[in-house]
Amino acid sequence: MKAAREDLKEAVLWESAEETKVHCRLCNWRCTIVDGKLGRCAVRKNIDGTLYSLNYNKVCSANPDPIEKKPLFHFQPGSRSFSIATMGCNFRCEFCQNWQVSQAAFEAGRISGQPISPEQIVEAAVRDGCASIAYTYTEPTVFMELCNDCGRLAKQRGLSNVFVSNGFMTIEAIDFAADWLDGINVDLKAFSEDYYKRLCKARLQPVLDTISYIAKKTDIWLEITTLLLPDQNDSDDELKRTAAFIVDKAGVDVPWHISRFYPQYKCPDIAPTSLDALERAMEIGKAAGLRYIYLGNAPGARSESTFCYDCGRMLIQRVGYRIVGNNIENSKCPDCGADIAGFEL
Ligand code: SF4
Repeated sequence: MKAAREDLKEAVLWESAEETKVHCRLCNWRCTIVDGKLGRCAVRKNIDGTLYSLNYNKVCSANPDPIEKKPLFHFQPGSRSFSIATMGCNFRCEFCQNWQVSQAAFEAGRISGQPISPEQIVEAAVRDGCASIAYTYTEPTVFMELCNDCGRLAKQRGLSNVFVSNGFMTIEAIDFAADWLDGINVDLKAFSEDYYKRLCKARLQPVLDTISYIAKKTDIWLEITTLLLPDQNDSDDELKRTAAFIVDKAGVDVPWHISRFYPQYKCPDIAPTSLDALERAMEIGKAAGLRYIYLGNAPGARSESTFCYDCGRMLIQRVGYRIVGNNIENSKCPDCGADIAGFEL
């Protein structure tokens, strides 16, 4: 009988396999890990036949942010969300804007951070007047143990919980989190397996399955973000297929954030997304029937604000992440009475 490692947090969603191997069911890599080795995310390790989280006691970011920064535009608008992260990711996106923390375990073999307990995190969120806790900056799936412990405590204190995720978690992981997870922004990075394979070392289909499942089978509020990379994922054809998928599998009420790329990490030579390309994508989304489309990283654009899909009235006026006017009354347009979808609008 092997002793449990008391300095490490045992992982969730794993099972023993033959000999001392373990099988992780948290994300769609579904790693089988031999004793002494790491999973593909490099933050979960098989030690003597038990799977442990290596980043549970290592919080690398903890800040109150506007919920709009996640971005979540139809979720407790104008509120603050206490945003935490630990190092690690299950993707290797070459354009990652948080690569110093998300890719540190790969780039430097390093997982650093502070041992901040779930109790301390929730207490800090309450003290800072936050309405929610956001698990963000890196991929929350690979620090699910901390999310779960914080998420349950947060609910007891009247706070919501949100993920900003690449959507590669398994259906079991979504079900595991569904008791306490209220909202999620899923990155739909492109609509081609080639893009996911080439630029993210990942796969598209599980992300599509996650979006469909969350929209159809859970009560978790869903928004979707697509970062437009010039000449990589911004053709009319690809954008039409992306928008058609969202309409068909998630519905016309799901907000679509189309975000501007700036050169990052391993993509210093790709030009920033043009405003023309963002606006073309927005027109494609509107033509597909989506009711709420927002342009991200494009300060000052009128498309940061929320309009009634029926009568066109401006409902929530935003300047950057700041809300300067909110006219929604009981989730309805005050002029025409149309229902405006969201969480505590
Ligand atoms: S979270 Fe994903 S990448 Fe990490 S060990 Fe589990 S299945 Fe593998």
